[in-house]
Amino acid sequence: MLLCRAALLLFLSLIHLVLCAEDYYKVTSLFLSPFSGSRTLANLDSRQVLGISKSASDKEIKSAYRQLSKKFHPDKNPGDETAKEKFVEVSEAYEALSDPELRKVYDQYGHEGVKQRQQGGNFQHQNPFDIFSRFFGGGGHFQGGQRRGPNVEVKLAIALRDFYSGRATEFQWEKQQICEECDGTGSADGVVEQCGTCGGHGVRIQRHQIAPGMFQQVQTQCDACGGRGKTIRHRCPACGGNRVVRKPTTVHINILPGMAKESRVVYENEADASPDYVAGDLVVTLAEKEPDLEQDNPDHVDGVFMRRKGDDLHWKEVIGLREAWMGGWTRNLTHLDGHVVRLGRREGQVVQSGQVDVIKGQGMPIFHEDGDSVYHETQYGDLLVEYVVVIPDQADPAMLKEIKAVFDKWQKKTGVDLHKDSGRPDIPDAAGGPPAHEEL
Ligand SMILES: [Zn+2]
Ligand SMILES: [Zn+2]
Repeated sequence: MLLCRAALLLFLSLIHLVLCAEDYYKVTSLFLSPFSGSRTLANLDSRQVLGISKSASDKEIKSAYRQLSKKFHPDKNPGDETAKEKFVEVSEAYEALSDPELRKVYDQYGHEGVKQRQQGGNFQHQNPFDIFSRFFGGGGHFQGGQRRGPNVEVKLAIALRDFYSGRATEFQWEKQQICEECDGTGSADGVVEQCGTCGGHGVRIQRHQIAPGMFQQVQTQCDACGGRGKTIRHRCPACGGNRVVRKPTTVHINILPGMAKESRVVYENEADASPDYVAGDLVVTLAEKEPDLEQDNPDHVDGVFMRRKGDDLHWKEVIGLREAWMGGWTRNLTHLDGHVVRLGRREGQVVQSGQVDVIKGQGMPIFHEDGDSVYHETQYGDLLVEYVVVIPDQADPAMLKEIKAVFDKWQKKTGVDLHKDSGRPDIPDAAGGPPAHEEL
């Protein structure tokens, strides 16, 4: 019995070697199921396969399929049978859930119901590679000499506070998608005929006589079918026969704390799709958005106006003459996430204009893909606070007089003549201006 089963398995694996990838699916569903036991789809919940909840929206279903189908695609996992099975499971799960009518059937009667509906109604059970190619273009494969579409570059401006705290956000762009109405055939009735002009070759050979008895053969692209070798009698109204349409497409992006400006986030095969090629990559480059008091600062925190240099943050704090000189003051600086950083000096502690306090650990989070987790504790750069001392340009004359009197009194006792001290030549001031070079 055991021997018999082993022989059968050997036989099956031989069949697998012979089959090309497209045909693989039909055979797997026939042969693999009895052996894979609990792995057969009938026992698996489609939503579990896609890792989504019962209330998942169309968008979430699509997004789950998008990720998983790429992850388990046989081209990306050569020789991995488990990945192949997963790829088929994911496709079938997506198929059952993506069509609203089939989804209803699935929710009531499960996979059996879906299968019956597909056999009975006008639903065609789809090859998983076809489902894949409707999403990403091409013939459902990554390799095999298939043409690849161009990458699309997108620049996304992100506020500094989102670089600091991290944020899951989304943006939209006009993506070229394979027309869903005609499944990328361009035909309203699904009929695609071989081009009569070129006989399906897409090119025509023209013979020109260049001299009596001498001919030149020129190969040109067939203008009747545009080189595709196929023609359509009734154009699809949705795409006008172009087989593709541009539609606003939402892309989710996860900004992780401390990501560098100019970071690139690559979405594999998410650029413009076409039936003629496998979609290229969508490449998102991050940029730092100029702070906007109105829009980006609902909590009115100072941090929004901090400047980022690598992992450090820079801030200019303005203090008055008295504070700078006499000390005895505190300030609450509100950071990017609203937490407070205390600045201050004790009584008698001087701050010079331009002086910089380096506050350890109050800079940007140092980027790590795990972020702050049980496996990894986030480290931070420094916050550099530069002081700008402002000297009052308006003061009560009486007050100024008093202060001057104090200066005069103390200058007589301890004053230093800065001019003498500097060693510069002693040239009498012709204009008779103030003999100013003195200080307390
Ligand atoms: Zn043609
Ligand atoms: Zn169409």
